[in-house]
Amino acid sequence: MSSPALPDLTAYDAVLFDLDGVLTPTAEVHMHAWRTMFEELFSHWGIEPPYTERDYFDHLDGKKRYDGVAALLHSRDVEVPWGEPSDPTSADTVCGIGNRKNDVFARVLRAEGIAPYPGSVRLLDALAAVDMPVSVVSSSKNAEEVLAAAGIRDRFPVVMDGVIAERDHLASKPAPDVFVTAARMMQVAPERSVAVEDAISGVQSAAAGGFGLVVGVDRGAGEEALRAAGAHVVVADLAEFVTEAPA
Ligand SMILES: [Mg+2]
Repeated sequence: MSSPALPDLTAYDAVLFDLDGVLTPTAEVHMHAWRTMFEELFSHWGIEPPYTERDYFDHLDGKKRYDGVAALLHSRDVEVPWGEPSDPTSADTVCGIGNRKNDVFARVLRAEGIAPYPGSVRLLDALAAVDMPVSVVSSSKNAEEVLAAAGIRDRFPVVMDGVIAERDHLASKPAPDVFVTAARMMQVAPERSVAVEDAISGVQSAAAGGFGLVVGVDRGAGEEALRAAGAHVVVADLAEFVTEAPA
């Protein structure tokens, strides 16, 4: 089913997909949630200058949630106590403010939904047509909500997410644990399976897990970096694995 230059995914026993950036453009929802939360907070506290998109890339993108909050507040000379991860969303602590953002994220997701990448849906459809087992392997604790909002939850009997990883004390990506455990849950061998990732740490995780084929999806990380991390092939869109049936 793939174009001649790409390996045939149906020759493997299963395909394991990362979620954020592979199946759904979740970064946009995160950006929206950060903006909403900080605009509210800045206006409430009279913080200047106002929050801009630049702040997202300078202080929040790629950071752990609480580290991002601390960095952004620091950029405005605002210091608040760190607090605890269990802080309520009303707490004026780094953790409380970070938890507020997570609330807004869930609200934005519910209100606006999220459309999966069309190319990824095309591949999922093609794999479903040949009964290929598929699963989701995500570090996110919001994976279930994102999958439901995207309307693709029912396609995955196995969803290995941040909630399960924390419960079972699995080391996060780039350690191989989450991918290997998901393969075990699917009763497939990693070396007979495909892993699909867009992040360097995710590709490293799948490569360390000994997956037979590691597919990098280049959403900005860069082809060279993804290959260096262990990707066997790199595509810009997952539809590249689907060839049109001749008309
Ligand atoms: Mg990702």
